[in-house]
Amino acid sequence: MDSSRTISADVDPFEALAGVVSEGVVRIGAQRRLLSCNDAAARILGYDAARMIGVTIDDLLHESNTGDPLAEASTVTFRDTLGSAIPVQTRCRGDIVAFSPQRVDQIEQLKNELVSTVSHELKTPLAAIKAYTATLREHPDIYVSHREEFLAVVEEQADRLSRVVDDMLLITRVDTDHLLRRRMVVRVMQLVDQALLSISYNPALHPIVCLTGDAAISGDPDRLRDVFRNLLENAIKYSPGGGRIVVRAEQDEKYTTVEVEDSGVGIAPEHLPYIFDRFYRAESSAAPEVTGSGLGLYIVSAVMRAHGGTIEARSRPGAGSTFILRFPQR
Ligand code: ADP
Repeated sequence: MDSSRTISADVDPFEALAGVVSEGVVRIGAQRRLLSCNDAAARILGYDAARMIGVTIDDLLHESNTGDPLAEASTVTFRDTLGSAIPVQTRCRGDIVAFSPQRVDQIEQLKNELVSTVSHELKTPLAAIKAYTATLREHPDIYVSHREEFLAVVEEQADRLSRVVDDMLLITRVDTDHLLRRRMVVRVMQLVDQALLSISYNPALHPIVCLTGDAAISGDPDRLRDVFRNLLENAIKYSPGGGRIVVRAEQDEKYTTVEVEDSGVGIAPEHLPYIFDRFYRAESSAAPEVTGSGLGLYIVSAVMRAHGGTIEARSRPGAGSTFILRFPQR
């Protein structure tokens, strides 16, 4: 070690200290705006450090937060760039707030969520596939139309399995680089057509009306298809009694706005703020048998962010839901 090294007087002691600790550290100025922030704070919340300067600490809070980050000690829920809740312990002295994530809890929680999703979402279709193939093997002389029906179920369940696996793989790389690998201009109508090819549904029960004209979106065509597949799949499955699904799109010089509207069971107001969170499922008494992984809308909102766009949901229980996507023009 070079013992002749001296501490430079130019180094701001706050910056120096904040740069070496693993906790998130921010300095708060007037109107609760961030004056500085260390790399750990940016990393914990998934932001670029430079982009955090000037935002208010309240802008970084998750809807579910109940703590005050400027209290001497508190438990606060921040939101990361994808809108997910990040629970942290905060301590505040003067204008400095330090926080560390509840890492172990979070990892434990993610593990539990994954285990319950895997056990349910993967085991259910697997059990159906096993049961139907066993029946087909045991009864080779089964009536031909039944055989076709059974094979259709096996195929449908295998598709369902493959979609859950795709979704799970996608959530491990929900960063911009992976969600916007290439950019193309794609017509909304084409995205709807392609998404519908990968969904099994009965058009007599769920007629889909596409009022999109020539509106187009600039983005990664594979991920945009994921967005439409998830929204249309939800519109269908959360309308168990059937009903029209309308896709509208409008394009002006600034945005392409797309609405996906259903007349299904709707979402209760207490669930609405959380539906874009990873693994969040709002159990609905109107559709208790509907299954899902709680990953679809999380992926949709991550894709929207990667494209610089937004997604919003409007819904009333019993009166259906509308999801509004807004893509900036490129
Ligand atoms: P899931 O796999 O459970 O469908 P999503 O992430 O796609 O997961 O959706 C999260 C939750 O939001 C769902 O569990 C459901 O309660 C609610 N939801 C999403 N879309 C709709 C819709 N079109 N109508 C009613 N509820 C919806």
